Amino acid sequence: MDRRDMMKGFGLGAAAGMLGFLKPARGEDAAYSKATKGLPPLKITKVKTILTAPAGIRLCVVKVETSEPGLYGLGCATFNQRPLTVAAAVNEYLDPFARGRDVDNIEDMWQNAYTSSYWRNGPVLNNALSGLDQALWDIKGKRAGMPVYQLLGGKCRFAVDCYTHCGGNDLKQIEDSVKRAMERGFRHIRIQRGGYGSPHLSKQADFKDAGFGLPSDSNMAIRPYVKGTIEMFEHVRATCGDEVELLHDIHERIPPIEAINLCKQLEKYRPFFIEDPFAPEDNGYFKILRQQTCVPIAMGELFNSPHEWVGLISERLIDFIRVHISQVGGLSVARKIATLGEWFNVRSAWHGPGDVSPVGHAANAHLDLAIWNFGIQESVTFNDRTREVFPGCPTMDKGYMHINEAPGFGVDLNEELAAKFPLPEDPGFWRPVRRPDGTAVRP
Ligand code: MG
Repeated sequence: MDRRDMMKGFGLGAAAGMLGFLKPARGEDAAYSKATKGLPPLKITKVKTILTAPAGIRLCVVKVETSEPGLYGLGCATFNQRPLTVAAAVNEYLDPFARGRDVDNIEDMWQNAYTSSYWRNGPVLNNALSGLDQALWDIKGKRAGMPVYQLLGGKCRFAVDCYTHCGGNDLKQIEDSVKRAMERGFRHIRIQRGGYGSPHLSKQADFKDAGFGLPSDSNMAIRPYVKGTIEMFEHVRATCGDEVELLHDIHERIPPIEAINLCKQLEKYRPFFIEDPFAPEDNGYFKILRQQTCVPIAMGELFNSPHEWVGLISERLIDFIRVHISQVGGLSVARKIATLGEWFNVRSAWHGPGDVSPVGHAANAHLDLAIWNFGIQESVTFNDRTREVFPGCPTMDKGYMHINEAPGFGVDLNEELAAKFPLPEDPGFWRPVRRPDGTAVRP
């Protein structure tokens, strides 16, 4: 991006301020202006959501506009299963809350917005808060003329090492998929045998024969999944070698004691990590798991509240914390989680699926670059439409994610184009999974 593009893309005023063109204001403004090397004080004038689905996934981005014409920030507030609820939280509550406030004081804004609902730590309000929080970091970076990672202390590494997803319904498909990913340069590969819980291996769905539940509900028995997963690790290690790092997501699909048993049996295949062995409601099982196996554990994509992660980190019960950054309230929270993790040698593995907007992926990557205890990042591939709607998306090369070096998060949003990809009519409910007798399985 050259200087002219930068000024066009990131606000004339911001770029002008960055380049020292703005004249100091009078009185109180003059003192502020001196402290900020010529930048005028700015107020928030509007907070709104932009909903778009260029890849069919419901993305929610918050745009914070300021009293400087053309200067705005973007933050990720994507909650794929409840986007309209997040939009109401932003447009009906955070907008009136934030209007007229100073753009500079991110932490103060976060603390007050967090408690403005009195009740807190839920996924809807946390996502809304993340949108505001990340947008303010984006604005601060644009005002400073620096990428956000610079504001967080600069780089600890040249790029962000990522894992990719490989899978298939049979072992040969998985092997081929892993080999192709290795050829593309990935050193870390997550392997799944079919969908989460390998439902295709569960032949008997008695609830369907009995007419229980909906015809579209999927069926998952415990034993075929456990047996099939062990077979998969054995096959991939035998055919793809010992060097590649292998990851796997249990996705909370089996009872805790079964997950512990599976982790013990996978130990000999040296997984890089096993993800989400338990549902968040079963955090108490981690102590038992730790006493049984030294398999590295990654946990946390469903976490909303500090009560869920603080104990797991401080008691050294997990190895990777992989919260969904918008789900926990934004970059400001995630950097504190990273700092907490540093003292206990718990590394990061931020959740990075398709239902994080490119702004959110950039926020993940900026934090990944700046923290010492980075572990690994879940990678994503953006389709062409997504890259057009969000100019400046992070890019992948040889298993590394790269950000562009533009100020802020470096990702913009073309609102006109975004409007051409409205949310799907399907509300996006998580698809029910049942045991063969019809019992609902928690995802
Ligand atoms: Mg997961």
